[in-house]
Amino acid sequence: MADSPGAGTEVRRARKAPRMTYKQEIATIKNLPRVQRLIVIMKIAGVFLVAIGFEGIVTATWWLPVVFIPLGVFVSMFPMKIRTDRCIACLAVLGPGQSICPSCGAPQM
Ligand SMILES: [Zn+2]
Repeated sequence: MADSPGAGTEVRRARKAPRMTYKQEIATIKNLPRVQRLIVIMKIAGVFLVAIGFEGIVTATWWLPVVFIPLGVFVSMFPMKIRTDRCIACLAVLGPGQSICPSCGAPQM
């Protein structure tokens, strides 16, 4: 009586493992362009914000460079930080210099 549900769980588990990796593989493929798009958008936004800051220097509006230059630098640096310490597929925290995610096995760029 206790044997059959136990065996059932065993079989279900064995089947579930490859499906999980397959799902995560799909998640990697889906997330990758999104993450890359985000990085590109943030870099453009960062450059744009710094440009607004420089515009402030040119027009002698002192608060523009004070606000927008650090903001622009932060925005363009921010995706780099995500990239270096988070998995691109499952967003698990990675150790320094880890090129393959320890939790889902996705290769990092
Ligand atoms: Zn991962």
